Amino acid sequence: MRAEFPDFRLGNVLATSFTGTLSERHGNAVERIPTPQRLIDWLAVNGLAVDSCTTAQLDLARELRESIHAAATAAAIQDALPASAVHVINDRSAQGRAAAILTPEGKRRWRLSSASCVEDALSVIAADAISIIAGERDGKLALCASPTCQAAFFDTSRSRTRKWCDMNTCGNRQKKARFHANQRKNPRSAE
Ligand SMILES: [Zn+2]
Repeated sequence: MRAEFPDFRLGNVLATSFTGTLSERHGNAVERIPTPQRLIDWLAVNGLAVDSCTTAQLDLARELRESIHAAATAAAIQDALPASAVHVINDRSAQGRAAAILTPEGKRRWRLSSASCVEDALSVIAADAISIIAGERDGKLALCASPTCQAAFFDTSRSRTRKWCDMNTCGNRQKKARFHANQRKNPRSAE
């Protein structure tokens, strides 16, 4: 059943992995959380397991996602943050009751107030977005160089010169396009 839905793109940064659940925003957009169940799946993969999700909660999640995308994009190009996006992010951050828990192994885990509380999970994502947009973490917000993507991503490379949101998708596609363009120009020098 689930194989019919597009895969998730996993990253190291919760907030931008979340905005990545809609990809190719400037091309043929791919919605990776098309149903409440897919949001449940995504949350589970990201350490925020819930046991149910309504369509209203999915709407809240998508509203938060697009708000994070808008605010992170503005931050990446050093533009003023859109007020409506800031408002949504703050609302979601304030309306959750997730607690950070230290495990015996010394790892952090999130404990939600109840297993049906998607709002708690969204508050963790909103707080993560706030910490990267506020510049509290070691890294820099940037926009993917793929014209059909332009996703905001968090560049933690030492030189801060990463160009693609994801090397395996956008980066690879660009490399292949360049390779084919070179072959057309120079058909005999194919390597
Ligand atoms: Zn990209």
